[in-house]
Order: sequence, then C-alpha cells, then structure tokens
Amino acid sequence: MDENLTFSKTRLAPTPSGYLHLGNVLSFAITAALAEKTGAKIVLRIDDVDRERTNKLYVQDIFDTLNFLEIPWHEGPRDLAEFDREYSQMCRMELYTSALQQLRENEAIFACTCSRADVARLSPESSYMGTCSGKKLPTDTPNASWRLHTEEPLLLPVKTIHGTVIDATLPPSMRDFVVKKRDTFPAYQLTSLIDDIHFGIDLVVRGEDLWASTLAQQYLSKRLGLEAFQHTTFFHHPLLVDDEGHKLSKSLGATSVQYFRKQHKKPEDIYAIISGILGVQVTLHDWRELVGLLQLSL
Ligand SMILES: [Zn+2]
Repeated sequence: MDENLTFSKTRLAPTPSGYLHLGNVLSFAITAALAEKTGAKIVLRIDDVDRERTNKLYVQDIFDTLNFLEIPWHEGPRDLAEFDREYSQMCRMELYTSALQQLRENEAIFACTCSRADVARLSPESSYMGTCSGKKLPTDTPNASWRLHTEEPLLLPVKTIHGTVIDATLPPSMRDFVVKKRDTFPAYQLTSLIDDIHFGIDLVVRGEDLWASTLAQQYLSKRLGLEAFQHTTFFHHPLLVDDEGHKLSKSLGATSVQYFRKQHKKPEDIYAIISGILGVQVTLHDWRELVGLLQLSL
C-alpha cells in the first residue's frame, strides 16, 4: 500500500439484524486503522432497510459495541434517537425510489414473480436463470421483485488499495440481481450504492465475502450513470472463520461482543481473541495494533 495514499471518507456499515460479533469487530478495526492512516473521516451508516430483520436492540448494540471498543466515527448518529430521526435509511427512501424510477424509465429492470424457492429449484447455486426476463410483466405486478437486466457483459474495473485496478465481470451468482424486493423495499445492492454516493465515500472496506456485491454495485452504478462510484477504492479483507472454516455468523451467540461484555471482558481481551483466531502470535491491545500486524497481508 502506498504510504502517501489519502482518502476523504470511509464508512462502517453494520446491519442491525443480530448482535455484532468478532467478525464485525475485525472489519471495524481495519476500517478505523485504514481511515487513520489515510486521513479519511468515518461515517457510521446503519443499514436498516430490511424492516423484518431490523431490531432496535441490535441498533443499540452497534453504539454500545463501538463505544466499548473505542472505535471512533465522525459523521452519523450518536444514539438511537438521533438514528431514528435523521439517519435511518427510511430517511433516504426518496433517493432510492428516484434511482428505481430511473431504472424503470430506462427499461433496465424487469418484474419477477419467482420466489427464493423457485430460484433454488432451478439452480443448485441459487443463481437466477432469467425465468421472467422476457415475460414483460407489468412493473406494478403485486408481490413481484424488480431485477436488473444484466445480459450485457460490462467490464467492471475495481480500484484496490494496493493501487491496482482489477478488471472483473459480473459473476453468475449476480445474474439479474434484485434491486427492489418483493416487499416493495429497495434491495441492499441499490441502497448501499446510493448511500455511498450520498455520503461521498471514496474508500470502502468490507469482507471478501462481499466481492460479488462490489461487482453488482459497480454494474448498477454504470446503469445509473453514477460515475463517482467507479473512482471509489476498495479493500476486501479476510474473514474470521471458525474451526471448520465457516465464516462467523450472528447466530453464534458465543462470538457476540455482547456476550464478552457480559463476561466482563475488556476491549484488549477481544482483540487478543481475534488475534488468536487469526493465528497472530502476539497479544494485542487495541485496533491500531491489530492492523499493524495485518499490514503484511494488506
Ligand atoms: Zn422470475
């Protein structure tokens, strides 16, 4: 990584659908350290557009966890009340709706009535097989999602923090990906892109499991003419995995930060546990040190 690299803004973008776990902590720690190193301000963005999975307890857990770990942020809500009032994604619904309207007017989307089970039945990898692509269903069909037409194989250059550009194309798992869900709310790929543009983000730090999402968002940015997103720099960090090599998930209570707090653990204990999982031989005390050691693999 170039020592003189500077950015203006990056973001922490947790989803309040479960208690935060060690994997989230690693992501936050890397984001905070890269922000400090490159002069970027940190925006806290809480992705609550998924109304069924969002829970206020989990929103509160995000504030509690960041404060407990002493991970700073410079823009965004300081507490639950401010979040509800000014920063919930519900406050930006007009931006998402106008992007969806633009896609509809440009005939870039189609309505799809396939359920998740329908898609899974046709494809073992749950890749969409284009079932409704040519059906020309009305866009206001009840209980239909909107999918983006992705037949055109666009080249998607992704700027990396190492100064390289990876020329990728959309993976099969993202064929005709959903931009508006059956519940009528905008989908993650759309809200994440629109929010990154809205907040002026020029550095995105996320787990490597989101590589396909990065490509979907690049594809969508081209369809929406949001050129700024193509100048965004990305860092996809390695994930924490359990003994069997599975990514840590929110359902695993014993890795939640809340669980460790209840056990009266301190932040340095959490960083020590993470370094243990990463196989780092040194005992760490805070997020700066954690990333200092990870520099080798950055
Ligand atoms: Zn369909």
